[in-house]
Amino acid sequence: MKKTEQLYEGKAKKVYATDDDSIVIVSYKDDATALDGLKKGTIAGKGAVNNRMSNYLMRLLEKEGVKTHYVQELNDRETAVKKVKIIPLEVIVRNVSAGSFAKRYGVEEGIIFDEPTFEFSYKNDELHDPLLNESHALALKLATKEEIATIKAMALKVNEVLKAYFLTLGVKLIDFKLEFGRLADGTVVLADEISPDTCRFWDAKTGEKLDKDRFRRDMGGVEEAYNEMMRRVFGN
Ligand code: UDP
Repeated sequence: MKKTEQLYEGKAKKVYATDDDSIVIVSYKDDATALDGLKKGTIAGKGAVNNRMSNYLMRLLEKEGVKTHYVQELNDRETAVKKVKIIPLEVIVRNVSAGSFAKRYGVEEGIIFDEPTFEFSYKNDELHDPLLNESHALALKLATKEEIATIKAMALKVNEVLKAYFLTLGVKLIDFKLEFGRLADGTVVLADEISPDTCRFWDAKTGEKLDKDRFRRDMGGVEEAYNEMMRRVFGN
């Protein structure tokens, strides 16, 4: 598999074409943005942490029957994935109140939900990723009814698998964002990444934040948090 031209550069990743039309290569950067792009910075080593952790979790999910875009890790920062058309929905699952949920509904962070919550945002930077419900997604033709049902079932399955897995590492999975894509034949697969950029992780004993909130909220210890998550997943 040979890398050819760059197709796209996003906030945290670059995507390259390959000599195989069905495969692209994702290259993870150390760049970080937050607060709707207002806050910019770099987190040293983040690209490698997110790449390796995301790949590990995608492989774990595949074993549990969740279809993903994952093909092969090429090196610390680069991974071959199946080419997809991203469905422009940010799919958010929450187990505990935090972030925009706590703010929107005027509640504290840390409330444990009886059942996970499920929500969509419209993935659209110009509109600042507005919250939207299923009927809105259908009206905007972002996905079909069948695709939305598939996405919801897959997202809740991902939550069950990851929640249990992270608990074995002494980490509570508070919430996370997923993105899905369509393969050429229309199959919906899990795409993008699963990492401390896209999940909230709290230490199960101390409640310490081990994710991008340390960057968003200027808490310090950002690199240390990413490295600690790497250590929990892969050992020393
Ligand atoms: N999230 C993400 N990308 C986004 C927005 C949210 O990966 O553009 C993740 C975030 O890391 C958290 C979860 O989705 O794990 C829920 O985020 P929330 O809606 O609370 O938004 P935030 O407080 O991050 O603005």
